Amino acid sequence: MKTAVKEMSNWNIEKIRADFPVLSQTVNGKPLVYLDNAASSQVPQVVIDRGAKYLREEHSNIHRGVHYLSQNATTAYEAAREKVKRFINAREAKECIFVRGCTEGVNLVAYSYGRKFVNEGDEILISAMEHHANIIPWQVLAEEKGAKLRVIPINERGELIIEEYENLLNERTKIVAVSHVSNSLGTVNPVKEMIATAHKFGVPVLVDAAQSVPHFPVDVQDLDADFYVFSGHKMFAPTGSGVLYGKKEWLDKMPPYQTGGGMIRTVTFEKTTYAGLPEKFEAGTPAIAANIGLGAAIDYLNSIDFAAAARYEHELLEYATEKLSAIEGVKLIGTAREKASVLSFTIENVHPHDIGTILDQSGIAIRAGHHCAQPVMQFFQVPATARASFAFYNTKEEVDVLADSIQKVIDVFA
Ligand code: PMP
Repeated sequence: MKTAVKEMSNWNIEKIRADFPVLSQTVNGKPLVYLDNAASSQVPQVVIDRGAKYLREEHSNIHRGVHYLSQNATTAYEAAREKVKRFINAREAKECIFVRGCTEGVNLVAYSYGRKFVNEGDEILISAMEHHANIIPWQVLAEEKGAKLRVIPINERGELIIEEYENLLNERTKIVAVSHVSNSLGTVNPVKEMIATAHKFGVPVLVDAAQSVPHFPVDVQDLDADFYVFSGHKMFAPTGSGVLYGKKEWLDKMPPYQTGGGMIRTVTFEKTTYAGLPEKFEAGTPAIAANIGLGAAIDYLNSIDFAAAARYEHELLEYATEKLSAIEGVKLIGTAREKASVLSFTIENVHPHDIGTILDQSGIAIRAGHHCAQPVMQFFQVPATARASFAFYNTKEEVDVLADSIQKVIDVFA
């Protein structure tokens, strides 16, 4: 095992950390070491300020108001949509539907696309490493329609077995739904190639991007994704923000998911006609402040050189992988060749919840549990894992604190 650790990329970590006020606090008398970014990342001051400005100066309902405040709020909300469009390189802003988060985005597609295009005997293809948010909506749809849920298997490293994927695709497949990055294993899936293969069968692909968008630049046109869904709270924005990107040609054909105010063209008691995109999928008052905050988070990511941030974070992951693998008694769960952000592990004879609780006493925030991916736990035959997940504001020193504290856990239980 190599012990020498490469010098980290030239990345102004002090300056970046100063942008995130939450990071400078102490927890249980120790400096906070926040390694639960896969669950929710932290929010920079500029995003907090933008949300506060909306609440202080602009708070009002969007789209339907003719007055000053409403027009300002509408302009800010639609500007956020434009920022999302540019950030993921969508063709048009109206292909970016604001949703409450990744879960709502997947449910929207399962309900709306599923209701129209999936029938008895059809097949829905997901993978063995999906988050429950990208399993259950499809399972419910399959049960309702008499369709079949099929699952792309994974290998011992936690990688998709691509030959099996190719074998599973056929003329009955109506959609493929797969994560770009696994939240429990950190595996980066070859979604671009998978999408190209699915398209040979004329099958659209939904990508669960909850764990990719916060960690490296993405381009939905380059991927040729049909649907791409992600949550704001994992990408430095407030909870309640999120996006479903969908190709216009699909979204136009799909029925509304929820109905009510804001999504109509005309209503009579006999018949309602619907608004075009994106309003058709945004019934009711949306999370205005949160989505304006998402726009501010994107501005922030653009301002710091996000590609450089991704490189730094990846080096940090490699450093942490090396450090934790060197500790006797630690087993890494998820050793794919392509990984991002996530380091799941177990310690012999110690329950992950105990690991989490003991590390918390040292001010270290990790997550312990099944990470809403119970089938992954079943595959690896563990009840749960401990998971450290990184962002570009974490440091090598924090990884050292993590490794030392893990060693202490082992010593206590030895
Ligand atoms: N998919 C993945 C891969 C995730 O990591 C998560 C959140 N843990 C979700 C979906 C669901 O995201 P949310 O709870 O923000 O809707």
